[in-house]
Amino acid sequence: MVLTIRTTHKPATDLGFLLHKNPSRIHEVELSFGKATVVYTEADDEGCSAAMIVDVDTVGLVRGKRAGEGGLLRQYVNDRPFVASSLMSTAISRVFGTAMSGKCKERPELASISIPLEIEIGAVSCKGGLETIEKFFEPLGYEIDATSVPLDPKFPEWSATSIFNLKLSATVRLSELLGHLYVLLPSLDRSKHYWVGVDEVDKLLRRGKGWLETHPHKELIARRYLKFQERLARMAIARLSEDEGEPDPEEEIAEKEEVLVKTVRLHDARLNAVFSVLKESGARRVLDLGCGGGKLLERLLHSRQFEEIVGMDVSIIELEHAERRLRLDRLSPKAVDRIKLIHGSLVYTDNRLKGFDAAAVVEVIEHLDPSRLNSFEQSIFGFARPTLVVITTPNKEYNSLYEGLEADAMRHIDHRFEWTRSEFEDWGKAAAVAHGYGVVFSPIGPVDQVLGAPSQMAVFRLGN
Ligand code: SAH
Repeated sequence: MVLTIRTTHKPATDLGFLLHKNPSRIHEVELSFGKATVVYTEADDEGCSAAMIVDVDTVGLVRGKRAGEGGLLRQYVNDRPFVASSLMSTAISRVFGTAMSGKCKERPELASISIPLEIEIGAVSCKGGLETIEKFFEPLGYEIDATSVPLDPKFPEWSATSIFNLKLSATVRLSELLGHLYVLLPSLDRSKHYWVGVDEVDKLLRRGKGWLETHPHKELIARRYLKFQERLARMAIARLSEDEGEPDPEEEIAEKEEVLVKTVRLHDARLNAVFSVLKESGARRVLDLGCGGGKLLERLLHSRQFEEIVGMDVSIIELEHAERRLRLDRLSPKAVDRIKLIHGSLVYTDNRLKGFDAAAVVEVIEHLDPSRLNSFEQSIFGFARPTLVVITTPNKEYNSLYEGLEADAMRHIDHRFEWTRSEFEDWGKAAAVAHGYGVVFSPIGPVDQVLGAPSQMAVFRLGN
């Protein structure tokens, strides 16, 4: 099996520092089941690719074991040496362990930034097919290119539909990407090369920290990762829900940073929640109103379901941030055609916003002057009238749980108001009734029994 990791971050050879593997050398690492070799196939300022080749010793793998399911022949003749599975995860953690833990000795700052990364895995075993691959990777912001690999091109009827050549690309931290692969490859494959016990739950939670808690398919991922052992899966799922949005207790971070980490994770949870609603609605033409620096736009652009994406903001500076984040100058012409950034305000009716399937308005309404809320309502629900509207806003009740936030203070200097759950619901229901929409509310982030969740979301659907 081969895993290739490529970056176009400048200078691209920084990848060598991040992986702790010098691009000018060949690196060999002995594994309990074989050997991993890392070689660079490209290493200049523009592009750098590291390939990890994992040779599995099938005989070594079964030595000393009883003939299990499928008998002796199955033990020796199987797909394990060729497809990415838990063996690949073990190789990743042995060979790129320091990179996966987010450390970079020579250039510590490098490990903390998101860089453009592309990976390719020659053969990924995925029971459940392309749909499962998309379910797992899309919510994490990856662009996916997966093609099913035939067993033998001469005999298409032998096609192995569960084997895919997988290419993923995203702008992420390398440590995040390695953590995603570590958990998701065995989960796609559904079988493990070793016995699955309680410590596997810990491993899953440790490697999934910071992203799995808010992944819309976390339960499926956990079940498959734990080989459908229901008791272990339930344990993992309960702990994942507890951990939602909480920072790693082992991380030694200053108090201030801790608040930042919480906020960042909450924002990710919010964006994931909104993304999932848009995705599941089947929308193809979408608006992100008050798009800010373009984090949601980035996720939308990575999913090919969204054929026309328009981001609007009142701030030119934010639009410039979004332009940089999306790398509009470097996108392929096809991708550029799918996305447009426009300057405008939500409190004016605007013909450019008409005819869309869905609109997201994420953490924006609280920036509007309360006297302009009626105009906002009119411009979205009365004039633009997308089939689906997703609005999120902070839940003011939760503020008392934020240490350091004075009573009655707001979370952001530019917030003009913050609502309790019932204030948001009253406003949302009235807007829905007035304009012929149905509305459903849900919490975002860890839910406090009394105060609710830090953020709240309303999903409006035209006509019901
Ligand atoms: N939706 C983004 C940004 C939220 S911050 C995200 O979730 O990351 C709020 C954004 O709303 C800012 O970018 C601000 O410029 C924008 N905004 C404030 N008033 C606006 C208005 N009247 N019309 C459009 N955008 C507005």
